[in-house]
Amino acid sequence: MALWQRARQREFPGAGSAPTPARGSSLKRKLAIATAIGGLCTVMLVTLVIARSYGDFAAARQNLYDISEYRLVLDAANVLSAERGPANSVLGEPPSDNSAARERLRAFRARSDAALARLAAPPPPPFALHSHHLPPLMVERVRERLVRARAQIEELAARPLQERQMDEIRRAIENMFDVVDVLQPAIAWQVRQLSACREGLAAPALTGKMLGDLREYGGRIASQIMAPVAARQPMPVQSLVDATRSRGRLLALWQLTGAAYNMYGGTPTLEQAYADTSHQFFGEGLAMIDSLVAQGRISGRYSMTPTELTNRYVRTLQPLERLRSAFLDEVVAHFAATRAQALRELAAACGATALILAMLGYVLVFAQRSVFLPLLRASDDVIGLAEERGQPLYAAPQAAPTPATEMRPLFDALDILRRKLRERASLTAQLEHQARTDSLTGLLNRRALELVATQYAAHERASLVLIDVDRFKQINDHHGHAAGDQVLRDMAALMRALVPPESVLARFGGEEFALLLPHGRPGAAAALAEALRAAIAARPVHLSGTTRLHVTASFGVAIGQSGECNWQQLFAAADAAMYRAKAEGRNCVREAQNLEGTPAA
Ligand code: GH3
Ligand code: MG
Ligand code: MG
Repeated sequence: MALWQRARQREFPGAGSAPTPARGSSLKRKLAIATAIGGLCTVMLVTLVIARSYGDFAAARQNLYDISEYRLVLDAANVLSAERGPANSVLGEPPSDNSAARERLRAFRARSDAALARLAAPPPPPFALHSHHLPPLMVERVRERLVRARAQIEELAARPLQERQMDEIRRAIENMFDVVDVLQPAIAWQVRQLSACREGLAAPALTGKMLGDLREYGGRIASQIMAPVAARQPMPVQSLVDATRSRGRLLALWQLTGAAYNMYGGTPTLEQAYADTSHQFFGEGLAMIDSLVAQGRISGRYSMTPTELTNRYVRTLQPLERLRSAFLDEVVAHFAATRAQALRELAAACGATALILAMLGYVLVFAQRSVFLPLLRASDDVIGLAEERGQPLYAAPQAAPTPATEMRPLFDALDILRRKLRERASLTAQLEHQARTDSLTGLLNRRALELVATQYAAHERASLVLIDVDRFKQINDHHGHAAGDQVLRDMAALMRALVPPESVLARFGGEEFALLLPHGRPGAAAALAEALRAAIAARPVHLSGTTRLHVTASFGVAIGQSGECNWQQLFAAADAAMYRAKAEGRNCVREAQNLEGTPAA
């Protein structure tokens, strides 16, 4: 830093102070913390919403899986029950391997076996679902009963028709009932499992079971009277009791399911099946049974063979089967729709969440980039400008963050302010330069020299050389004022070229110069003064035309303490020495008495 600049700094202590970054950075930190907290709360909120939606979806998925698996058990009971139809027919006809009833029996048995195999070895549940599959032991018990019942039927069917005792036929048929009866606890077990897991499953599970039971007892009542019909004998009391019990149970079940079959609003298929059941089974089917029971009680002569009974009666059972299966279809469809709806809601929640997060992120980034950061920058700039924090601030604006359009005028105004301050700074610098510079020679003026001299530390020593042009008035008088000026300019340029860089050369008055050396080495200042004197004397000034002007100067040298309080003393000593040089013939160097008392060299 140049000497005069250091001096100026002491004169205006506020100028060029360091920036105060604490305010901006604390605001940025608060903004970052607020953003983080806001983001965290939003994430927690959306996590809750999504977790809830996902929970609903997972529950709906589990419900659909459970009800579909349960349906397989009901279907298995149904096919086991249906196997009795062709079995009864086979028991009522002569031994044959390829009758129509045989073929149907084979097909029905294959269906039963497949259903039981599925129950015994169900595939593992899909990802994230748990199963309520039947304990394998339960299925095994059903299979054992089935094998035994089938063996007995085969044994009877192999005999000629007349060798089949009615009781034997009845027992064979009852064994087939047993198979389904053994499956009943398994179904009840599953209903309990489902009801315990989710309350929404209890009603459809129970209704499905009741519709299955309707189909079971609808079939069973015909089987219960099949033995006397097959044996063409009067109806025994046991068959009457059994059939009556089944009839009562059928009517009770019908009353119960009648209220529940359309629990999800009902579809045309379901409504049709319900109407058909009511009309065909409870009308025609039961009437058929009633009339055969009546014939059995009176004579034992029946109006139908077992196969005719089976064929005609099975037709009336069909709407019952349709009702059962349409109901279960609808239950499954209901849970599938619920699952699809839950999935849609989950997707909507995820989409809305993503949108909210994106919007929030955008708002935060936008607020940061286009509002807060520009505002902080503008605030820093204004403070910097107010504190005149360095020329660069208004000389070269930093790359600005992208402010919102509405904030553009603020930055335009800042630019204008910056430009005006730049102009002012340049003007000030110009004025300062003028204030410390002598316009004729370009050297520092007296004021600037004194400013520098008084800023030296008081204990430092300095040398002062005062230079006065000899008989300058005569130069003015003989050659004109302009020539005098020319002489002053040439002398200044000459001396400037000869003095060391750390020295301060100034034009002190009209034709007087001063040289301040920041050290007080005895002899050094006088030697420099002598060198200057010799150079001035040796170099004539070229005036206009061919005129050469020989100029000399007288030098007064003083060495002493520097600093503000010693300046006047130092100056007076150098001045006195200079007058001594004048008095002693001019064009010479004279040193002042040592200010501490001892004479100079
Ligand atoms: P000495 O040897 O005793 O110093 O005699 P001198 O004539 O140099 O001294 P004096 O003080 O009598 O005269 C100084 C002159 O310098 C008077 C003034 O007109 C002239 N002068 C002062 N400033 C300027 C200036 O800027 N330009 C010119 N050309 N002359 C100036
Ligand atoms: Mg003078
Ligand atoms: Mg003079």
